[in-house]
Amino acid sequence: TGSPSTETAWSRGQGACKAADLFTEQYATAPHGVWASPGRVNLIGEHTDYNGGLCLPIALPHATYAAMSRRDDDVVRICSRVHGEVVTWQGTLGEILRRKVKGWIAYTAGVVWGFHDAGYQCTGFDVALESCVPLGAGLSSSAAVECAVALGLDELDGFGLAADDRGRAELVDIAVATENTVVGAPTGGLDQAASLRTQEGRALLLDCLDTSTRQVPFDLAASGLQLLVIDTRARHSLNDGQYASRRASCEQAAALLGVDTLRQIDDLGAAIAMMPDATTAARVRHVVTEIQRVQDFVALMDAGRVLDVSPLMNESHESLRDDYEVSCAELDVAVAAARSAGALGARMTGGGFGGSAIALVREVDGAAVQDAVRAQYREHGFIAPKIHGVTPGRSGARVS
Ligand code: ADP
Ligand code: MG
Repeated sequence: TGSPSTETAWSRGQGACKAADLFTEQYATAPHGVWASPGRVNLIGEHTDYNGGLCLPIALPHATYAAMSRRDDDVVRICSRVHGEVVTWQGTLGEILRRKVKGWIAYTAGVVWGFHDAGYQCTGFDVALESCVPLGAGLSSSAAVECAVALGLDELDGFGLAADDRGRAELVDIAVATENTVVGAPTGGLDQAASLRTQEGRALLLDCLDTSTRQVPFDLAASGLQLLVIDTRARHSLNDGQYASRRASCEQAAALLGVDTLRQIDDLGAAIAMMPDATTAARVRHVVTEIQRVQDFVALMDAGRVLDVSPLMNESHESLRDDYEVSCAELDVAVAAARSAGALGARMTGGGFGGSAIALVREVDGAAVQDAVRAQYREHGFIAPKIHGVTPGRSGARVS
C-alpha cells in the first residue's frame, strides 16, 4: 500500500510453522497436520443474514491456524496464543458434550458438540492455535477458529466433509451450531460460510434464505483499487443486548406482516405503514433497502462497473447509522475521514458498536486515506486504529 504501518497477514507457510512450533513446544511431539481458516469482511449486506437476506463477504488473507493430532482416548488438550500469552486447557469429550466449557475454550472445544449434534462422533485430540485474525474486531476470529478446528477434525476423524461445497455447507452448519451455543443466540451463518465456502479473488454472494451461494468476481487490483479494513479497536459492550433487540424488532415486524422473514417484503411503503412506531419502521427500512443494495452491488460487479459500487457502500453506512442505529463515533469518524481523503466509498462492516470499517480507495490514494483516518483518531483522542490493505483470500484448507 505504500504505507509502512499497514498491518500484514501471515503467509500460509508462516502461519503453519507458528502453529506447528507451538504444538511441538506444548506437547513435545509434532502435529499430524495444520489447518487454516480465514476471517472475513462483509462488503455489503449488514444485519440481513438473520432476516433471510443477502450478504457479500470476502475471506480475509488473515487466518487462524490449528495444528492438530488425533488421540486414541477421550482427552482434549487445547492451547492458543492470545495477545502474546499462551493459554491452555485440558479436559475430556464427556465434559465438552455436557457443555461444561465456557469462554474462549468453547469456540474450539464446542466444535465437538457441533459435530455430535450433526451425527458425527469425534475422538480426543490435541490442538495448538495461532491466529493473525484480530480478536473481537468484527473480522470473525470466532468463525476462523471454529472452522480451522472443524477442518482438522473432519480430516483426522475421517468424515471427509471438506472435499466438496456440499460437505463444506454441512461444516458451516456445524460451526454455526458451535457458535450459537457459545454465545447463546442464533447467528446467521455469514461468518462461517465466508471462512469455508469462498474462492480466492471472489466475493461470496450468500442467500441466507436457503444458504445457496454464488462466487462473484472481485478483482480490485485490475481497476487500480484497494480495499482498506480499518479496525477501530473500539469494543462497545452494548453489543449483545443491542443485537438481540434488533433481532427482536425484525421478528416482531415480520409477525405483524405475516411473513417468515423481512426478505419476503415486496412493498416497502406498505410494510412501513403497518409498523407500530417509527423505530420499528426504520429497522425494516434498513433491512429491505440493504438487501436491495446487495443486489445492486452484485449487478455492478457482474457488469465490471466496480467504481460504481461506491455510493451503495455510503448509503449502507448511513442506513446502519440512522435507521438501524448500530454505528458509533469511532466508526463514523473513520468513514468520514476516509471519504474526505478521497475514499470512493466507506462504511462500517460487521455488527457495529465498534469493530471495523471498510474503505474502497484508488491505490494511489491509499496512503493519504490511512493518514487522514489516523490523524482524525488522534484529534478525537481515540486509540490508534489498525489498518489492513486486503485482497480476497482463500477459504479454509489443510496447509501443512
Ligand atoms: P470476532 O469474531 O469479531 O473476532 P467474537 O466476539 O465473535 O469477535 O469472537 C472473539 C472471541 O473468540 C475471543 O474473545 C475468544 O474467546 C475467541 N477466539 C477467537 N480466536 C481465538 C483464538 N485464536 N484462540 C482462542 N480463542 C479465540
Ligand atoms: Mg465472531
